[in-house]
Amino acid sequence: MFDYDDQNIFAKILRGDIPNSTVFENEFALAFNDIQPQAAVHVLVIPKGPYVSLDHFAAAASPEEQVGFFAAVSEVCTITGVKAGFRAIANTRGHGVQDVPHFHLHIIGGQQLGRMLPAG
Ligand code: 5GP
Repeated sequence: MFDYDDQNIFAKILRGDIPNSTVFENEFALAFNDIQPQAAVHVLVIPKGPYVSLDHFAAAASPEEQVGFFAAVSEVCTITGVKAGFRAIANTRGHGVQDVPHFHLHIIGGQQLGRMLPAG
């Protein structure tokens, strides 16, 4: 059901073919600044394994990968200092307007955000 394309841009970042601005890294996840930030804090947290989406990751990643991923999310929240609040977004496939087919969690904050979701 979930076909992973290893030519996607985040796979290239994981291989070191494309540079990134790393915020945090552990054995199972990499977190880096979004190239087109939508707020003062806009970090992408991605698993190192080949998962296309949140539902793929939740269904198929090992417990160690899942714990490692969310440990990275926790570290990113601490490092970026988003104590006042933030938004975590996992755009998924067509209806979710996902551009990059490697699971990523947007951590967006550092300022007051608007309400979700704009009419579409
Ligand atoms: P999506 O729409 O798939 O949820 O979001 C993909 C995100 O990846 C976008 O916010 C976009 O700015 C970001 N992005 C795309 N290419 C690159 C890149 O080469 N480097 C970084 N750091 N972010 C990227």
